Amino acid sequence: MDPGDGPRRPFRRDPGRWGPTSPQRQDRAFHAPAPAAPSPSPSPSPASHRREAGRCGGPSAAMRPTPACACGAGACTTPTMEPGRTQDKSERHRGEQSMERAGSPGRRTLLAGGLVGAAVALAGCSAKSEASSAPSASSQARPTTPAAAFTRLMEGNQRWVSGHLQHPDRDPSRRQLLARGQEPFGSVLSCIDSRVPPELLFDTGLGDLYVMRTGGAAVGPVVTGSVEYGPMTSNTPLVVVLGHQRCGAVKAAYQSLRDGKRLPGNLQAIVKALQPAYEQALRESGTDPVDTMARAQVTLTAADLRANQDLAPLVRRGALAVVGAYYSLDTGRVEVLAGAPA
Ligand SMILES: [Zn+2]
Repeated sequence: MDPGDGPRRPFRRDPGRWGPTSPQRQDRAFHAPAPAAPSPSPSPSPASHRREAGRCGGPSAAMRPTPACACGAGACTTPTMEPGRTQDKSERHRGEQSMERAGSPGRRTLLAGGLVGAAVALAGCSAKSEASSAPSASSQARPTTPAAAFTRLMEGNQRWVSGHLQHPDRDPSRRQLLARGQEPFGSVLSCIDSRVPPELLFDTGLGDLYVMRTGGAAVGPVVTGSVEYGPMTSNTPLVVVLGHQRCGAVKAAYQSLRDGKRLPGNLQAIVKALQPAYEQALRESGTDPVDTMARAQVTLTAADLRANQDLAPLVRRGALAVVGAYYSLDTGRVEVLAGAPA
């Protein structure tokens, strides 16, 4: 049996813990109707437009075709390159590839959904809208399927393990070309542990990943909403929940729960969030209960995300995979626990 497919636990239905089922959140954001388009306003000057671009156009711009610029002003001529610098042939070609991807049917279909429009409204700035006109400097085409994204990450991890790193797309050119938009191919939820940086252990570049990091990869409404952001606004086809060996947060939570001693301050919130994994570890009664709990936290969280009311439709139609994985500090290798795409 897939360890992530265990029985649903009562606590998971607590709307206070899980964003998508929270009535408050439904009212405010993801399930709100798309905002009405504002009245027309004069086109900004190129200078004022550049000043505004960082804040993007908000909800109205997110729903507006943006043939020239992601900020929503159709007449914008804001350059994507620094003054005096010209694109070389390979950069122009990559930009053309990005534009082709931006117009893919799947992308248009998702854009048409009111759900995405509402999600964009929540963010106040559209990653998708920006990405529609953002060229990509990646040396490889962006993976668009869960399997391709998963393969890309695991290939990067193999390079991390072997030491044959590529350090892709980590230069000023990449930064400049992504400044107006992003379209990451993966989202990683991992621990805050300084030894587990997803961008390094998957050997990815700038703009490749959304990364959420919390102690023990603990989740709550804000974290869950952050995980949802990529799949719902950028067509991100892969979410990885990544636990790791010798997790200090999991160990502290395990000891707190075992001994009935609260941790000080807000650390107790992490303990509370990890309690289901603790209970799962007790049921499994492994030889290393802390490690068992770390793995349980991964599989339970991945299963919940897979069943999440906003992500589950994407999973069902094969547009998204939610993978549970575990990172070895000793070897650097990422082990898949559940949910690897076929
Ligand atoms: Zn940790």
